[in-house]
Amino acid sequence: MDLKQHIRSIPDFPKPGILFYDISTLLAHPQAWQATVDRLAEAVMEHKPDILAGIESRGFLVAAPLALKLGLGFAMVRKKGKLPGKTIPYTYDLEYGSDTIEVQADAFHEGQRVVLLDDLLATGGTMKAAAELLRQSGADVRAAACIIELTFLKGREGLDIPVTTLIQYD
Ligand code: IMP
Repeated sequence: MDLKQHIRSIPDFPKPGILFYDISTLLAHPQAWQATVDRLAEAVMEHKPDILAGIESRGFLVAAPLALKLGLGFAMVRKKGKLPGKTIPYTYDLEYGSDTIEVQADAFHEGQRVVLLDDLLATGGTMKAAAELLRQSGADVRAAACIIELTFLKGREGLDIPVTTLIQYD
C-alpha cells in the first residue's frame, strides 16, 4: 500500500508560505491507517519499549492505537497547563520565542524504555525537546517514530536517538 497517496498537502497553512502535510485523509481511510499502524508497530517493537509516549496532539492519534496493538501503556507529552497533578515541565527555544511541554511526574519509572511518537518530523525541535523532557523524568528514551519526515529540514541530524519514518518529502 502506497501511504503517500493518502497524505494531503495544504498550501499556506497555518501561515502563508507553509505547505502543511495533513494526515486527516490517511485517518479517514481505514486500510491505509491500519497499514500505517502495522508498519509503525514493527519498527517500534525493535526497540523493546515498556511504554509509548505521544506528542500533543496528532502524536496521540499515532501512539494510542500502537500502544493498544502492542499491549503497552501510553503517556501524553502535552503543552503546558493541560495535565492535572504534579508535572515536569521542559522549556525549549522556537524560531521566535519559546514553548513549554510537560509530562505527569509519575508517567515514567526510572529506566523505563520509551519510544516517542508524533505525526511528523520537521526541524526535529519538538522531538528533541520531548526526548529531553522524558530523560529528565527518568525514562530511557530508546527511539522515535513518525508517519512523515521532511527530510530537507534534516531534523534527525539533531537527535541522538534512531528515528523511523514511513513517508518522506525532500
Ligand atoms: P518540528 O519541531 O519542526 O520537527 O515540527 C514538528 C511538529 O510540528 C510536530 O508536532 C508536527 O505535528 C508539527 N508539524 C510541523 N509541520 C507539520 C505539517 O506539515 N503537518 C503536520 N504537522 C506538522
